Amino acid sequence: MKIHIDIDSFFVSAERTRDKSLCHKPVAIGGRGDSYIFAPTSSNQSINLDNSGAFLGAFFQTYDPTQKDIEKFIDADGKIRGILTTSSYEARKFGIKTGMSIREALSLCPELIVKAPDMALYKELSSRLHNYLLNKIPLIEQASIDEFYGDLKGWVEDSEVAFFIDTLRHEIKRDIDLPVSIGAANSKAIAKLATNMAKPFGCKTVFAHEHVEFVTNIHIKNFPGIGKSMQKKLLSYQIDTLGKLLKSRGIVESWSPYSRTLYKQVNGEDTQEIKPLHVRKSIGISRTFDSIIDRAELRRRVIILSRHLSHALMRLNALPTTYHVGISYELSQRSHANISQYRLFNELWFRKLCLSLFYKADTHKHLKIIRLSISCSNFTCNSRRELSLIEFDSDLKQHKLSQLIRELRDLYGLDILRFASEISFR
Ligand SMILES: [Mg+2]
Repeated sequence: MKIHIDIDSFFVSAERTRDKSLCHKPVAIGGRGDSYIFAPTSSNQSINLDNSGAFLGAFFQTYDPTQKDIEKFIDADGKIRGILTTSSYEARKFGIKTGMSIREALSLCPELIVKAPDMALYKELSSRLHNYLLNKIPLIEQASIDEFYGDLKGWVEDSEVAFFIDTLRHEIKRDIDLPVSIGAANSKAIAKLATNMAKPFGCKTVFAHEHVEFVTNIHIKNFPGIGKSMQKKLLSYQIDTLGKLLKSRGIVESWSPYSRTLYKQVNGEDTQEIKPLHVRKSIGISRTFDSIIDRAELRRRVIILSRHLSHALMRLNALPTTYHVGISYELSQRSHANISQYRLFNELWFRKLCLSLFYKADTHKHLKIIRLSISCSNFTCNSRRELSLIEFDSDLKQHKLSQLIRELRDLYGLDILRFASEISFR
């Protein structure tokens, strides 16, 4: 059978491993409260390269136990900013949800403890759990920072699976101090559904003969893989449960190749392998802020984002060939620009490229901008294309310089070297 392991309210559970006073209390973790990266003065930052799972922003302030966490979400103008990325089950009883603004959450539950995220801790616990699982189960796939799939075929007899996962759940709590929920079934999709139904700190095994009974009354919105638009479509056919979906095979399969795969998944068919290695396909950075009309200030922000992303790319030793800049304006307008370039990556060149893509993407120059994003993809090690040889010599020099800059920043922080054009004189 296949199993799915998910850490319960991961970021909160991680904080509880080092601060027991947070146990049994409404606790939430804030995110995106880092508008300080645009501040004209330096700040103390660390970098994180994982952009998977519940994780929203790439850069966070270094953990400082002396500072009160809520203060990290108060901007210069005294307003509380940011949204919640995780909340404890105690907090959820007050109606608190992921994605809710911190202000709204505090109005629902004034005693809510809001912690600043500490990605270094979460990454460390995530890789500890990963290594722990690799020792227990031969085939493990990490699906996100707090989610894993495992294949028990040839390892644990089907009749032993329920006992095996229940034991594993208690062992993980004992050895790593993290509460997890585990689901088991013949396919990844149903194992994940079983985990979701078992939460928090539970186990659920779904054998093939129990499959139909298990899914019958589950609402379609709870099935991982049924997104908003598919939900709408299904509901328009009065299909609101997985049981009804299974009875509507002809209709569902007639829509698209995707809906055919979806039917198989809900039907419990084993369509996806466990992939032990997670290959990174892209990396990006984005920030939302109060609307800005001043293009000079926006260019400054593009440069700052490009510096942060450049550092991440140098750390990954990745050579992207496709670059993307996205802009969100007020009034829900959006625009973007892409380019493919086969050049050896370096920071100076990347900064210029981002600025030119921003200029190209900025098609509504009279509108205020509320969000900027930059991303890179199609790494050359994956696509095996050759880099341009014309600029290779000068690029190589710049690439080496960028590597030196990276080493300096690893030692002294991301703000140790900044472009003069980033510094605002206002
Ligand atoms: Mg989780």
